[in-house]
Amino acid sequence: MPELPEVEVVRRGLARWVAHRTIADAEVLHPRAVRRHVPGPDDFTQRLKGHPIGSPCRRGKYLWLPLEDTDESVLAHLGMSGQLLVQPHETPDEKHLRIRVRFADALGTELRFVDQRTFGGLSLHDNTPDGLPDVIAHIARDPLDPLFDDEAFHQALRRKRTTIKRALLDQSLISGVGNIYADEALWRARLHYDRPTATFTRPRTAELLGHVRDVMTAALSVGGTSFDSLYVNVNGESGYFDRSLDAYGREGLPCKRCGTPMRRRPWMNRSSCFCPKCQRPPSARVV
Ligand SMILES: [Zn+2]
Repeated sequence: MPELPEVEVVRRGLARWVAHRTIADAEVLHPRAVRRHVPGPDDFTQRLKGHPIGSPCRRGKYLWLPLEDTDESVLAHLGMSGQLLVQPHETPDEKHLRIRVRFADALGTELRFVDQRTFGGLSLHDNTPDGLPDVIAHIARDPLDPLFDDEAFHQALRRKRTTIKRALLDQSLISGVGNIYADEALWRARLHYDRPTATFTRPRTAELLGHVRDVMTAALSVGGTSFDSLYVNVNGESGYFDRSLDAYGREGLPCKRCGTPMRRRPWMNRSSCFCPKCQRPPSARVV
């Protein structure tokens, strides 16, 4: 799944290439790609027609295109393999092209939603008074959002009977942190993923949030080099940041800090990579 930095790269690309363009028409080539739009494909295309797209928005991993002259937004679900591409009209259709959006201008490009596995899609939703599509109103702000409340996050950690990696992945507490960046931030903070959050002090929370922000900002700066071309892309399988990872995917390799072989443990249908020396488990028992 794409995480916050990858989705932000896509958002910036869309901001550059499709913001403030008026939709001429949309074409749904596979109904599954609009299955979250309950009134169906015809309603979806009819309601997009003639509306200008506003500035693309993101919260956590969620990306949406507001329709500038309405209180509605097109929410993009990228799923496992969804891509938003801005392509010249003459570029041959991608094999897994699901939705095409044409614009009422002479710029010569169109927006394409391509999705091999069709877990993703586009859907139109009413906005909340805050300008969020109503179906994601419960998603917390992400740590790169200037309005993210560090103190409220700390208090929530203290109240919750949970462990730190679960908390980092809880989208109602903090959004945009997935498995990869959680492992990276925990390694940087020298924290074991199963550490109970009730024991967190304010400085420890602040340090961890700092690492979460640093790792995301670093990933963004790497991904940020590719959005300058006429190509808006996201693909969960090919992270831009792979070369810079310190924890995720490094099972058996030496810890970059102390040289101890990194370990990987099954964790909630996924896995966690950590250094058994730098990131001691919360109990004396080594898990
Ligand atoms: Zn180590």
